[in-house]
Amino acid sequence: MPHKILIVEDNANNSSLLLDILTFHGYEVTVAVDGQEGVTLATKIMPDLILMDIQMPGMDGMTAGSILKGDPATGRLKIIALTSFAMQGDEEKFMAAGFDGYISKPVNTRELPALIKHWLEQEA
Ligand SMILES: [Mg+2]
Repeated sequence: MPHKILIVEDNANNSSLLLDILTFHGYEVTVAVDGQEGVTLATKIMPDLILMDIQMPGMDGMTAGSILKGDPATGRLKIIALTSFAMQGDEEKFMAAGFDGYISKPVNTRELPALIKHWLEQEA
């Protein structure tokens, strides 16, 4: 069974790049375009890992992550924040909100597969 990864990202260029890389590496990937859809799909799919953009129209990633972490049904899902350059230094906020890690955008596509593998192997 391939690991399931949910990408929550409003920028189609970013999400299709991530989708291509992760699909190439054998993961089963689903994409949501905002926080609300992310929460809905995460609850339905129960992915092994969620890559959560922070800045999105509608429900943002902080809100969606907090909802998932606060719900006993989804609280153990691993969530990695996708942070922008403008948010450098805010990493502690994501960790305090319960996120399991963060990646700065633009995502380093060569490093991404090893990071994903590392997070998947970490104990919840
Ligand atoms: Mg965004």
